[in-house]
Amino acid sequence: MDLGIAGRWAIVCAASKGLGKGCAAALAREGVNLVINARGSEALEQTASELRARNAGIEVRSVVGDVARPEVRAALLAACPQVDILVNNAGGPPPGDFRDWTREDWLKALDANMLAPIELIKATVDAMAARGFGRVVNITSGAVKAPIDVLGLSNGARSGLTGFIAGLARQSRLASCNVTLNNLLPGAFDTERLQKTLKAAAQGEHDLEEVAEQRRRRIPAGRFGNADEFGAFCAFLCSAHAGYLTGQNLLLDGGAYPGTF
Ligand code: NAP
Repeated sequence: MDLGIAGRWAIVCAASKGLGKGCAAALAREGVNLVINARGSEALEQTASELRARNAGIEVRSVVGDVARPEVRAALLAACPQVDILVNNAGGPPPGDFRDWTREDWLKALDANMLAPIELIKATVDAMAARGFGRVVNITSGAVKAPIDVLGLSNGARSGLTGFIAGLARQSRLASCNVTLNNLLPGAFDTERLQKTLKAAAQGEHDLEEVAEQRRRRIPAGRFGNADEFGAFCAFLCSAHAGYLTGQNLLLDGGAYPGTF
């Protein structure tokens, strides 16, 4: 299927590895020009080179820095001639017990996982509406639907973003102008982040592969997801065909969430 977005421009935040990279790669395959971002320059430049090598017809620009910082967001916006597609992403906050978290810890989580996406959305959606096309995809977490106790910072900050998007996506001045905003909720995907989580669960005392296998067994699909399939779904959400799909929280978890809705 031709997704009908060749020649468009996208900002993909936190895209040197993992799910963000999967989204960037899938958009690149559709002929979308990219501005990609991450804090570490080495992996970011490597990803940018890979994307250029595999997709000769597109332009790929990179902006190094923490997307939670205003000057990095300004650089991202300046590097993108016209933002048709915005994929918001950042690393997840650390696990822990809420009794230990300070106001600073909360502000960090809110900055990265709620306020950074909102600021980028604020800077882009009205121009998208004026042009009659816009797609915003926020990478959040399955924990928004089924909270994970030790990820309280993530549960809280991402739920804040989710509530905000639910209202904004339904503004008719956006929805009637073909601007959609949706959240993608990953379950367990095989990325560096997942490997770190599994290592933490093993705590050096249990066999890592055993811990991974136990986790896989709790997923009806019997496996972890991969960044390519996540990216392909994201690209469809960003496609010309997905203009009637807005304000949704789409869970990709191999059937792990046990509820009917
Ligand atoms: P990952 O494999 O660790 O990759 C994270 C990517 O984001 C890297 O490119 C990283 O590069 C970049 N990054 C992290 N923080 C950033 C920041 N503040 N500013 C700019 N770039 C940043 O992680 P992932 O598994 O793809 O996860 C992506 C998001 O989905 C995270 O928020 C994670 O919590 C969430 N999630 C993942 C899973 C899963 O199973 N994988 C499940 C639920 C939710 P640098 O470190 O160089 O910046």
